Amino acid sequence: MRQYELVDRVRRYNPHTDEDLLNRAYVYAMRAHGQQKRASGDPYFTHPLEVAAILTELRLDDATIVAAVLHDTIEDTGATRAEIDHLFGPEIGSLVDGLTKLKKLDLVSKRAAQAENFRKLLLAISEDVRVLLVKLADRLHNMRTLHYVSPEKRARIAEETLDIYAPLAGRMGMQNLRDELENLSFKYLMPEAFAMVSTRLEDLRETNRELIKTIEKELTEELALRGIEAEVRGRQKQPYSVWSKMERKSLAFEQLSDIFGFRVVVGDTDECYRVIGVVHTKWPMVPGRFKDYISTPKQNDYRSIHTTVVGPGRQRVELQVRTRDMHDIACFGIAAHALYKDGHEAPAPTLSHESNAYSWLKRTIDMLAEGSSPEEFLEHTRLELFHDQVFCFTPKGRLIALPRGATPIDFAYAVHTNVGNSAVGAKINGRLAPLLAPLVNGDEVEIVRAEGQTPPAAWESIAVTGKARAAIRRATRDAVRAQYAGLGRQIVLRAFERAGKKFSEEKLRPALPRLARSSIEDVLAAVGRGEMFSGDVVKAVYPEFKEERKAPAPDRSDPGWFRMQKAQGVEFKSPGAAGAAVPIRGLQGDLPVSFAPNGAVPGDRIVGIMTPGEGITVYPIQSPALAAFDDQPERWLDVRWDVEDSQALFPARIIVAAINEPGSLGAVATLVGEQGANIDDVTFNKKSPDFREMILDIQVFDLKHLNDILSRLRVLPMVHSVERVIG
Ligand code: MN
Repeated sequence: MRQYELVDRVRRYNPHTDEDLLNRAYVYAMRAHGQQKRASGDPYFTHPLEVAAILTELRLDDATIVAAVLHDTIEDTGATRAEIDHLFGPEIGSLVDGLTKLKKLDLVSKRAAQAENFRKLLLAISEDVRVLLVKLADRLHNMRTLHYVSPEKRARIAEETLDIYAPLAGRMGMQNLRDELENLSFKYLMPEAFAMVSTRLEDLRETNRELIKTIEKELTEELALRGIEAEVRGRQKQPYSVWSKMERKSLAFEQLSDIFGFRVVVGDTDECYRVIGVVHTKWPMVPGRFKDYISTPKQNDYRSIHTTVVGPGRQRVELQVRTRDMHDIACFGIAAHALYKDGHEAPAPTLSHESNAYSWLKRTIDMLAEGSSPEEFLEHTRLELFHDQVFCFTPKGRLIALPRGATPIDFAYAVHTNVGNSAVGAKINGRLAPLLAPLVNGDEVEIVRAEGQTPPAAWESIAVTGKARAAIRRATRDAVRAQYAGLGRQIVLRAFERAGKKFSEEKLRPALPRLARSSIEDVLAAVGRGEMFSGDVVKAVYPEFKEERKAPAPDRSDPGWFRMQKAQGVEFKSPGAAGAAVPIRGLQGDLPVSFAPNGAVPGDRIVGIMTPGEGITVYPIQSPALAAFDDQPERWLDVRWDVEDSQALFPARIIVAAINEPGSLGAVATLVGEQGANIDDVTFNKKSPDFREMILDIQVFDLKHLNDILSRLRVLPMVHSVERVIG
């Protein structure tokens, strides 16, 4: 940028600018920086000029613009404070001095140093808020040209920007600046994520171009009909804010993109409320989304009314309604107080005593005066700046920022997925603590690990970060799959045995194409899940093999597949023949399935109850236990039996009251066995010397089979009564 361009830019909003002052600053800084070069190879002087240019966009006063031009001279050249005072006056001298002090800060290295720097920054701001404005513009230009510096330095600067400068800009209400700082940091810290989000936002914008125009038009016209002149604009979503929302709320991009944001700018406050009246009369409002930041401004002085309606074209439309002044403050924050308007001289930007931003700064500075240690100070200020975050540290001092409510589980996954997957315990500030303990600011967290762990599925609902949730879901899915494959292997082994063949992976491998699976593990998992019949695996390996379907006469020498699985701790207790692991339709995904404590058999009308982190439990519809879930309809799942041709056995519990005489159990057991059912377990209740109750957990084919057994038992002379128990 040339000398005259800078003057031009300022004159455009400030006809009374001191051109001579600007020109002298330009020449002075150019000479002072001389042959110095930036990392880009450009003359160093281009940097202070660009910083000044950014500040002209905020329409700032001459002193701020000049301070920007001079901001690096004392630190990087032979210039001195005395000389600048002498040439440009003490006001500018003090601004440049404040910036020089900040320039010396090499942030991030150590926690204490970071805290100390942050303290200095705030002190400098409190002396003159224009120091912050120049500092933020300085940081913005450095971020815009960050690709020229080394990758290591790049990451450090981007992190620091995201950590301190962007939130500070936000705290001062400078939303535009904050957005750009965040997006640039995001781009350098997570290039793939940035590209993904940006591309999708761009696509979305293309797709919806017409729709947005239509909504703009319809809203403007509707308001004009009621005599309200309003400027309606579709609002652009920022890549970083979309990303952090996805992270924070564990949402997919699609879930965030169904809302269209619009901004309605009107003349005065009164009209803001009239707009809301018109909008809510015309379109149904979405409950819970109405916020009045005009009557209660945000801490950074932001004012607007927010609402969401089901607008034109049944599209959800989010509206921000505000006046022009409110809009300026929403974009430029504290800098807006200094905006030149209509060519009239504006005061130098200060933090007005009425503003919330001012009182925040004041409180913070007071705390400094109370002499707390820099770390303590940082903790406090950060708490305020990042009120929805907690900052924790690894034993080596690495800072891990987490959303409020995060636990050591989130911490572990934030460090590394492997750390999360192998976490078995945590030490918080040196003491053993549960993995579910909520973390607080400043905690030092050490994760206790054990290899070969699988994170419990229940963690997924405990974790608050998207990263942890996704990783847990992945790990549990892998584990469930391995579990199914293990189960499938047993089923396949038995199927081969029954067919009188020998199972081997070498023989199975060439048969994979016939089974349309790409690996042996796939086949075994499919059998384990009940998606593939074990007999088909045998036939794929031995095409000549003919399966003889035996009459439903189960192999009673077999202790029962059901019991075998139980002994091995396999969760899905579905009993029965090979290939019918979970013979129920309507199940979701890979969720483990179990039966109600007292069983369920085909013929029973059934319902599934989902228990997060555990799976689905199948209950007979008349089960009294279901009452407990009456108020949670979302956990109910429609399921039905899928047992045609199956030889599976299903659990049921019966109570037999019988005369207490030798041989009564034997008679009952024999009868049950003769009917082709298994007895899984028997317990006794002694009712009286003469009577006793036998509680039998048996396995039957279906309801008819069960009822048949019950009738036959009732006929036995020593049996007094027989009932099925449903629980
Ligand atoms: Mn600089």
